[in-house]
Amino acid sequence: MVAHYDENLLSDMLPVYYTRLFPQNIFCRWLACGNSPQPLSNRELSFTLADDVYIRYLSISNQKEFQALLQKKCPYKLDIGAVYNNKPSISRHDAVVLARELVFDIDLTDYDEVRTCCQEAKVCDKCWKFMVIACEIIHTSLKDDFGFQNILWVFSGRRGIHCWVSDFEARTLDSPGRGAIADYLCLIIGGDNQNKKVHLGVDNLHSSIRRSIGIIDKYFDEVMLDQEFIGTPERLQKLLKMIPDETLRDIVENNLTKMPQSSLERWKSFVNIYDTYLRENGNAIRKIKYLLEEIKIQYCYPRLDVNVTKGFNHLLKSPFSIHPKTGKVSVVFKPNNARNMKLDEIPTIYTLLDDSSPDNVQHQNNMRSAVKIFQEVVFSLEKAEAMRRRNDANTTLEF
Ligand SMILES: [Zn+2]
Repeated sequence: MVAHYDENLLSDMLPVYYTRLFPQNIFCRWLACGNSPQPLSNRELSFTLADDVYIRYLSISNQKEFQALLQKKCPYKLDIGAVYNNKPSISRHDAVVLARELVFDIDLTDYDEVRTCCQEAKVCDKCWKFMVIACEIIHTSLKDDFGFQNILWVFSGRRGIHCWVSDFEARTLDSPGRGAIADYLCLIIGGDNQNKKVHLGVDNLHSSIRRSIGIIDKYFDEVMLDQEFIGTPERLQKLLKMIPDETLRDIVENNLTKMPQSSLERWKSFVNIYDTYLRENGNAIRKIKYLLEEIKIQYCYPRLDVNVTKGFNHLLKSPFSIHPKTGKVSVVFKPNNARNMKLDEIPTIYTLLDDSSPDNVQHQNNMRSAVKIFQEVVFSLEKAEAMRRRNDANTTLEF
């Protein structure tokens, strides 16, 4: 058991992991996106070596070169950058970014003001549910609102998830386009000092917001039980501060403080009080029409790192990279399976390479499934890319 989570072992284990388990071939094909709009060699990779030495502007032309580079440098972490008009190089100041997946980064540390089970780097299966909700909301929106098809979901290695959209339209999207999508998906606004961070106004709700609330509703009671959002006087105060109508706030405070501290029971009472109040005070509607929805969103809606989505040059951790602190593999997963994922079932480099580990067999299987999901996404990307090229060629012929 000593072998677990010992960072000093990484330099011996990583070369074995890269050779035997890292899906190099499929990884290179994913990065090349059918060599469109530029060959694989124009894509930036960056490595973090032992002792935090960081090398940018690496590139590879094929799997053979990739394997050689991995063996030579033994990176502790792999990051992926953009595709340039030339081979990436530190000295080329005229380099232009031509493509980059549209990416999303969701990290549980951004949920610290709402999650109560863990803080900072800690994560458990209870707070993982926030990631499940985020994944379902973003995935549905990317497909239904934007029509994207090629969407890859990856566990970040510690306490979050990444999403990579590889459709050609997404990869070649300009900065304002990326910004618009990020803003569209961003409903929680305001810093630590702002008590109420969601304002939905009084007009009819946009269908995508309704759909997101529908997704939150599937998990809301469960998350309320897990997190006990209003189970202490302090947490109840946070809820009260989200109520803009003073009279309603006082009624809620009076009633809920007298109740037992079960958050779910308190929430149900709150909903009843709110409904009755709204029925009896029609003029309050301007302030509190969507109060319940706003509170649910503030508790559960995805908190995105929008700068990662907006930027072209933001490097993001590669799928199947190892997290140097946890040893966990950044596995690819299916969005509809996120809710069944258990954190201790995510393979680690230590369990994968240690036959005597009790988790070895299960982690090997989970690693194989993750590679298979990755393959499916890459095959469908290559198919879409071939079709797009054929259509482009036909359009050109018609002229
Ligand atoms: Zn937790």
